[in-house]
Amino acid sequence: MLSQISLFFLGLIFSLFLPRLPLVILPRFRAMDGQLAPFPSPQPIDKHLVAQLLLLRTIWNASFLFAVTPLIISYLILQSQPVPLVFGLFIGSGWAILSRLIPAVAFSIPNTPYSNDLIHEINELRVSEPSCCNNPELNWEVASVCCCNCRYTHLAHARPELGRVRSDGWLGRLRLLLLDGHPIVSVNEK
Ligand SMILES: [Zn+2]
Repeated sequence: MLSQISLFFLGLIFSLFLPRLPLVILPRFRAMDGQLAPFPSPQPIDKHLVAQLLLLRTIWNASFLFAVTPLIISYLILQSQPVPLVFGLFIGSGWAILSRLIPAVAFSIPNTPYSNDLIHEINELRVSEPSCCNNPELNWEVASVCCCNCRYTHLAHARPELGRVRSDGWLGRLRLLLLDGHPIVSVNEK
C-alpha cells in the first residue's frame, strides 16, 4: 500500500514539474545568453531585454507540450491499466495545465509571466524618451521599472524570471521550479 502511494506521488510530482523544466534549463545555456546584466543586478530596459522576453514567452508557451503529452499518454494507459504511477502522472499533468491557465492576480489567460501586454509596455518604455529627470536611466528592479537617477517609478510591475545565469545554486533552481517564471514579489498595479 505504502509503495503504491509513493508511486502515485512520484508520478504526480514528476508531471507537475516537467513542464517547468524547459524554462529552468534552456535560457541558461551560454549559447542562449541574451547579453543581459548579470544576475541579480537590475536589468536596463534595452533591446536585449525585449528579445529575451520574447524568447522566454516562446519557451514558456512551448512547454505546455510537456504537460499535454503526459496527460494524453497517461489517460490512454489508464483506460486499460489503473496503475498508481500513471494515475499520479495524469493528476499532476492536469494540475500543471490548470495552474498555467487559471489567472492568479489579473485576469489574463493563460497565466503567463511573459504576457504580450507586458512585453509591449516594456518596449514602449524602451522607445519612449522618459522625462522624469535630466539623465533618465530605466532599470527593471525586483519590484518595478524605475529610473536609477531620480527613483521615479515608470512601471509598477515586478520583474519576472529573465533566464539569466544564476549564482544562487540549488536553492535558486528550486525557487524557479516553484514559481514557474513568475516574480517572487507581487505588486499591486495601479
Ligand atoms: Zn529619472
